[in-house]
Amino acid sequence: PGSAATLTVDDLSVRYGGVRAVGSISFSVGPGESVGIIGANGAGKTSTLKALMGLVPRGGGSITLGGLDLTRVRARDMVRHGIGYVPEGRHVFPGLTVEKNLLLGAYARRWDAGTRATLAEVHQLFPVLGEMGQRLAGALSGGQQQMLSIGRALMSRPRILLLDEPSMGLSPKLVGEILSALTRLREEGMSLLLVEQNATLTFGATSHCLVMENGAVAMTGTSGELSRDVRVRRIYLGL
Ligand code: ATP
Repeated sequence: PGSAATLTVDDLSVRYGGVRAVGSISFSVGPGESVGIIGANGAGKTSTLKALMGLVPRGGGSITLGGLDLTRVRARDMVRHGIGYVPEGRHVFPGLTVEKNLLLGAYARRWDAGTRATLAEVHQLFPVLGEMGQRLAGALSGGQQQMLSIGRALMSRPRILLLDEPSMGLSPKLVGEILSALTRLREEGMSLLLVEQNATLTFGATSHCLVMENGAVAMTGTSGELSRDVRVRRIYLGL
């Protein structure tokens, strides 16, 4: 990864027209830290990530990465500033090959020997992406497309990786594979911010979590504590 840096979100809010989806949320993710955001449907998790990326208007507050102010940076420039983003629903380019999808992830970087090295790292993390490099992305299974979406984000050598529900629609076995990959990324020092509804992935891949409710942080705790909390398990994760 690019050298990890602290992401600080202070007082971020999101409005859709007159409706407040997220009100004044604050948190930080330190270098090499892995933080989860959990909560029921509609709690504001996706809106928080999108506002961070600038994909929906940010209503006040500030965002910094490694001390650099990104509050007013537009979505298309966020990647260049070190934020990797794996959107909900993967959004791979189905008509392009797997390799082309990956190389497009490096668009914000200067094309150099490092690009090939990063591609090799992504292939190491997800061997199937190397094996299926010349296949069309649209021909991959859901799990493989999720790996491709993560791999594509890694191609920009981010300083932090934001993931929006990577487990969506995946079998427990594939969720396990995503968890292994995220665990390996953590071991390599990558910072992660993970929005999830899947308990295995959330608590397995993070050290602590924010619980969102009605656009606000209702609770925070270590992933170990929260995984044992009956209310969290019942209300937010449907266990
Ligand atoms: P999910 O897990 O279902 O994605 P979430 O916690 O990510 O839920 P958001 O998708 O961020 O929640 O939604 C937060 C609130 O904002 C919800 O009340 C939702 O209906 C509303 N909302 C989301 N996107 C829009 C939009 N484009 N326009 C208007 N309201 C929206």
